[in-house]
Parts: sequence; C-alpha cells; structure tokens
Amino acid sequence: MRIIQNVKEMQNYAESLRKQGKRISFVPTMGYLHEGHVSLMKEAKRRGDQLIVSIYVNPVQFIAGEDFEKYPRDMARDEKIADAAGVDVIFSPAHAKMYPEQYQTYVTVEGVTRNLCGVSRPGHFRGVTTVCAKLFHIVKPHVAVFGKKDFQQLVAIRRMVDDLNMDIEIIGMPTARETDGLAMSSRNVYLKDGERESALSLSRSLVTARELYAQGERDADKILSRIRAYIEGHPYTRIDYAKICNTKTLEDVERLAGKEVLALAVMVGSTRLIDNYVFGEELTI
Ligand code: AMP
Repeated sequence: MRIIQNVKEMQNYAESLRKQGKRISFVPTMGYLHEGHVSLMKEAKRRGDQLIVSIYVNPVQFIAGEDFEKYPRDMARDEKIADAAGVDVIFSPAHAKMYPEQYQTYVTVEGVTRNLCGVSRPGHFRGVTTVCAKLFHIVKPHVAVFGKKDFQQLVAIRRMVDDLNMDIEIIGMPTARETDGLAMSSRNVYLKDGERESALSLSRSLVTARELYAQGERDADKILSRIRAYIEGHPYTRIDYAKICNTKTLEDVERLAGKEVLALAVMVGSTRLIDNYVFGEELTI
C-alpha cells in the first residue's frame, strides 16, 4: 500500500493509472476507520482496478464550535485497517496544500442542502461538496463510494456530480451497524457509558418507523410524534431534528406516498448522532 501526501504526486499517479487503462475507485473519508468505512472499501475494490482512499479531516465542513480539533485521528491504526481491506493508495494531504492562503473557491449545492443538517450546520455541505470536488480532481476516480448513513451528503454529492457533469459513478452503501444496532461512526468514541444506551434510541426508532409503516401508517406526523416521544424518554438526548422527507428533494412530507426517508439527528450528551431509514428498504437491525 502506497501513502501519498502530495497533491501533485497523487494527480500524476492517477493520470498514469488512467493512461494504463486502469479503473480508479475511490472512498473519501475523514479517517479513524471503522467497519462502515471497510464495507465501502470492499465495494470500491470490487468496482475498480486500483482502490484509493483519502484520509483528510476537512476543516471547511466543520462549523464554528464543532469538534474539528478533537475529531479522533489515528493514522497508524488507519493504515493497518486500510491495508487489510486491500487499499492500494492512501491519499492524506496537508491542510496547507488543500486550502492555501489565497484559497477562495467553493462548490455549493442549493435545494437539497437546505433542510435537515443544512439548518443546524450552516455551511457544512458547502465544505463537503467543495472538498469532494477537489478530491475528485486530484484522485480522478471512475467510481466513488459513499455511505447512506450520511444520506443528505450522498444526495448532495449525486446532485453536484450530475449538475457539474462530472464523469464519475457514485455508489451508495448501506449503513454498517454495531451488533446492538448503533450506526457505526468515528464519533461513537465520544459516547460515555450511560450515553451509549441512550444512543440506541436512534436505531430503535428506525425499527419502530418500519413497524408502523408495515402496519399501514402513512401519516408522517403520527410516526414522528411516536419517535420523538421515544427518543426524549431517554436521558442525555436532545433532538436536533426528526423528519420525514422526500428522498430526492429532501423536503418535508405530510404523507408517505412513494420514496421517503426518516432522518434523525440527536445530541446525546455532547455527541451529535445521525441515522436514517428509507421506508420500504431493508433495515439490518
Ligand atoms: P467519514 O469518515 O465519517 O466522513 O465517512 C466517510 C464515508 O464513510 C462517508 O461516505 C460515510 O457516509 C461513510 N460511512 C460512515 N459511517 C458509515 C457506516 N456506519 N456505514 C456505512 N458507511 C459509513
């Protein structure tokens, strides 16, 4: 496994792969890798000849007061996990090279980033789409794999790729979970003992939503009030949002009619957790 930190070196290497006719698959991450990341890598490995994974904690997607400084980082551990997953290249650039002093260009996706995390984390998606656009130009992938756990992010990336005619196939992968149902996340290490139990209220809410839907419930408010009461019944929780939205527009819906997603963001102690369930899809809890 090769480790590249220099932007130009990564571009040159990607170009040489393309000239050899190799298909480049790419998984962008912020590191502190877990099984969710590994499932993306395995899928990406299957879909290309050379698997490139970026590990970069992107400052531009953190808003003021968030956990950029304390976001967990462990490069030695990440290298072992990536190597075992069959990664060919880790790209881990320095901040100064990604955002030099004169930096002033951003990519903004409009409609689909307005609701949900767009309300509580203004500017977050602008940071995500900007860094992904930059990484796509550096790594030059044919295919890039993202997790459905960050549902709004995946919708925004697909929108950007379509709107800006980027010639990249975008794949979404199911959410990897701990055995008790908690969605895997690098941020789960922040959870203290009692909080870990309360964190399960998110995934258990998805199960409740699936059951209500299976029983024929189609009124979004009825489903949401059950879920809100359930989550609020747990200590340390504060709901940021609990919404049911159209999967394409991410606008709120009143009734479930076709493709809708239940999206949750909950503070558990000082840790912000997200999870979601697309009605009618498989839920492995
Ligand atoms: P992150 O390092 O958290 O920025 O995530 C990098 C990629 O891994 C994103 O595409 C995430 O959606 C994806 N990811 C994070 N957690 C999970 C999970 N539990 N299951 C599947 N994919 C995930």
